[in-house]
Amino acid sequence: MNDILPASVPRTEKLPTSARWQWFEAAVRKVLARYGYQYLLTPIVEPTALFVRGLGEVTDIVEKEMYSFTDSMNGDKLTLRPEATAGIVRAMVEHNALYNGPLRVWTQGPMFRHERPQKGRYRQFNQLDVEALGFGGPDVDAEIILVARALWRELGLVEGQHVRLEINSLGQPAERREHREALIRYFEQHQDQLDEEARRRLHSNPLRILDSKNPAMQALIEAAPKLMDFLGDASRAHFDAVRAALEAVGLEYRVNPRLVRGMDYYNLTVFEWVTDQLGSQGTVCGGGRYDGLIEQLGGKSAPAVGFGLGIERLLLLADELDLPMPSAAADVYAIVPPGTPLPPVIVVLEALRTAGLNVVQHAGGAEGAGSMKSQFKKADASGARHALIFGEDELARGHVTVKALRDGSGAQAEHPLADVAQWAATLQSIA
Ligand code: ATP
Ligand code: MG
Repeated sequence: MNDILPASVPRTEKLPTSARWQWFEAAVRKVLARYGYQYLLTPIVEPTALFVRGLGEVTDIVEKEMYSFTDSMNGDKLTLRPEATAGIVRAMVEHNALYNGPLRVWTQGPMFRHERPQKGRYRQFNQLDVEALGFGGPDVDAEIILVARALWRELGLVEGQHVRLEINSLGQPAERREHREALIRYFEQHQDQLDEEARRRLHSNPLRILDSKNPAMQALIEAAPKLMDFLGDASRAHFDAVRAALEAVGLEYRVNPRLVRGMDYYNLTVFEWVTDQLGSQGTVCGGGRYDGLIEQLGGKSAPAVGFGLGIERLLLLADELDLPMPSAAADVYAIVPPGTPLPPVIVVLEALRTAGLNVVQHAGGAEGAGSMKSQFKKADASGARHALIFGEDELARGHVTVKALRDGSGAQAEHPLADVAQWAATLQSIA
């Protein structure tokens, strides 16, 4: 579990700064508004049964990754949410949210999984979660994939180069059952090559074997019967329609018949956005259709599709690629020599802020003041575009000095204290 710190704090681990975080959040808000998705928040703690029923008993998450506990006050069995979809569906059912028609929503926040921590894999991590509930057509599968693409573009990630799309179809439950029989037969013939976990899942959830990360089993998994070959006409048509929509907007993808995702609730379209630049933690975004989940969690049957995006992974990728982001530096750093009377300083700085400028004051009282020289150093290091200098002589004349710090000119000008609104605009960043 990590602290996300301001850029000025030295970091021991390779983690995104809080500035990266806000850069991402701003892009998310913009892009999701563009597609008509509404923000929603659900609790971080839910009944354990919600995840067991929702994600499936024989899944990595439910079998070994959940932070579950008993509420000592009343004996309730609770779990820190390992993913967002089940909680969102619970909320939709509880509030009969689809009564007036389908709904597009998104949320963002911490998820918890007891995994082995490594770069891009943490026990508390954050997800952006985007869901379109109540829509059955392939058009919305394509839309949800394009929301992610729009986000890449907003952030400066290049699709096909920095992130690539992989898609698959998991068909419908009846098709999956047939495939499941074929899978069991296949893996039974190769029992000796299965690891312990796969052997345990062979009869309970053989599809999960396809999701195994064990390198020793990859060849075996590669040659396993493909769900794609068991799809009926309707499933195939749905998949073809999604593909046609993606092709129409020039989005390149690879059909990966081994892509099955880690939860049991998926059907038809599943997809992942992957990168080669983060080692084995290469999936930044994954999702798909889950038409059975709403009914399974007690609601009126309704289709749905969505994705979860690992924010830390995405920001690691952004750092790796050094994607540009707007400067977080202030417009003005105020240099206040030791002994300067505070009232005129505060009045000017407040007026500048009211005019919309970002202003950092060198503060700390008599002990914190520091020499002019050290204050100038701080001003420079802050990245601010201008220094405001409250020198004794200028103050006596009713003025303050403004010095340009960033344009190389070092130009200085005096401005009247009485008339801040007049000259504040000249300090505004042009960015
Ligand atoms: P993986 O195969 O890497 O374990 P997953 O299939 O378990 O991922 P999902 O449940 O689909 O992941 O979650 C969506 C996204 O959340 C992932 O694609 C990834 O970017 C991110 N994510 C999942 N688990 C973690 C984790 N422990 N730490 C950081 N990010 C994570
Ligand atoms: Mg996982």
